[in-house]
Amino acid sequence: MLDRTSNRPKLPPEIARRRTFAIISHPDAGKTTLTEKFLLYGGAIQMAGQVRAKGEARRTRSDFMQMEKDRGISVSASAMSFDFKDFRFNLVDTPGHSDFSEDTYRTLTAVDAAVMVIDGAKGVESQTQKLFEVCRLRDLPILTFCNKMDRESRDTFEIIDEIQENLAIDVTPASWPIGRGRDFIGCYDILRDRLDLMDRADRNKVAESIAIEGLDDPKLAEHVPADLLKVFLEEIEMARELLPPLDQQALLDGTLTPIWFGSAINSFGVKELMEGIGQFGPEPQPQSAEPRAVAPEETKVAGFVFKVQANMDPKHRDRVAFVRLASGHFKRGMKLTHVRSKKPMAISNPVLFLASDRELAEEAWAGDIIGIPNHGQLRIGDTLTEGEAIRVTGIPSFAPELLQGVRAGDPMKSKHLEKALMQFAEEGAAKVFKPAIGSGFIVGVVGQLQFEVLASRIELEYGLPVRFDASQFTSARWVSGEKDAVEKFTNANKQHISHDHDGDIVYLTRLQWDIDRIERDYPDVKLTATKEMM
Ligand code: GDP
Repeated sequence: MLDRTSNRPKLPPEIARRRTFAIISHPDAGKTTLTEKFLLYGGAIQMAGQVRAKGEARRTRSDFMQMEKDRGISVSASAMSFDFKDFRFNLVDTPGHSDFSEDTYRTLTAVDAAVMVIDGAKGVESQTQKLFEVCRLRDLPILTFCNKMDRESRDTFEIIDEIQENLAIDVTPASWPIGRGRDFIGCYDILRDRLDLMDRADRNKVAESIAIEGLDDPKLAEHVPADLLKVFLEEIEMARELLPPLDQQALLDGTLTPIWFGSAINSFGVKELMEGIGQFGPEPQPQSAEPRAVAPEETKVAGFVFKVQANMDPKHRDRVAFVRLASGHFKRGMKLTHVRSKKPMAISNPVLFLASDRELAEEAWAGDIIGIPNHGQLRIGDTLTEGEAIRVTGIPSFAPELLQGVRAGDPMKSKHLEKALMQFAEEGAAKVFKPAIGSGFIVGVVGQLQFEVLASRIELEYGLPVRFDASQFTSARWVSGEKDAVEKFTNANKQHISHDHDGDIVYLTRLQWDIDRIERDYPDVKLTATKEMM
């Protein structure tokens, strides 16, 4: 367990001001809208609406992106950096669809906290729950934003209860809504004793905020209609009795989440949330690694690849490796050691993803996300250091749950297909297995939709129509153990053996019974459903 206490060593100011986080939500809860407003207050864009506009311009580039848009999902993760007050925010986008959960998991290894957006009328939805569980695996601190309070929403206590019950996390209100639905007028900022009033007429206007001296301040009655005030005062008293206060350590441990109520589209509650992320959202945290953890305050640079995106520009076969800096102060042109190959790499064109553009990163600090264009040397899970042989851990690869055979529509193009498949395997978009016997490939994914995305990307990016067909296998397990034992095992089970894109041995089967039998018959051979990327 990493030391995520609030009394870690004091970080250099440039690192201490960084907040690196992701937003998790069920589709339609308002993640995009909230992101737009973040960027708006981050001064990164002039007018809200540009993320979408920009996103659409980018998406029209290919039908794959069109498909993504039609289905209302976002499958391509990216990072955005912007300043807010004294803070530098690095927002890492997570794919929203459950079929991309492995990608999401890896993305979440690169952040120090997550903002969970829920719809005030819907509460905790299926995808919120799934993503939350991924965060829990990593004990990530969570800050919650309850959105769409301008519309008919559920009772505040009911929302809080649902989060506590379904997600097994304590909730502390950072703000409290006054009035509901049409009568919603704004929130009481519990942390700073202010009354924030929403302006329904101007969606881009920041709320009027009035300092209040405690709940018996007569100023409340000047701004809040009597009937709403009465209900509010009752509720807030009950909330104080029933709900825990904000405890920084519990937040860092991931056992307590503060909740802000607001309306992203009305720019309401967003600034308060951002201030909360600044004030309570964790500073860059230590990173688990072998043989030792990496602390952000270390002066030497270390970073790891959590995502590889190929063909960002289909005209150039470029690839960008997204690197989370775990420690130190990076400067452009630095020579870093690529730990897996032990080779030096001069990082001459690192990219910073500012809200509206990519820009050369002249420097970056622990907590930042930089993009490193490369020709395939950098893979997910790779570590870059100033020489020390450290390997970041905790970036797993999961056994796929769906397997299909894949063939090029044109048999003459099989070599091309192999290249395309390897590319996607390295990007982490799918698992690709080459059976020991016979030709062709077997592709493994977590969700059905990934097959469709893959087929359309292979066609668009490589000009190769492909066909997927049923595979006789349904499960895959990585094989490990002493060389002799593994050899004996593979020789006796040739028809089940394949290799993944790293050349590691994989056992394919359709029966759990097979897996149990092997565990019995070959005690020296280990079958695992996850593999650490390295
Ligand atoms: P995402 O799928 O989570 O990225 O959600 P979007 O940001 O695209 O929002 C989904 C829909 O909800 C869009 O039509 C938004 O305009 C709308 N929406 C977002 N925030 C609010 C809000 O605070 N109030 C209301 N009434 N609608 C909102």
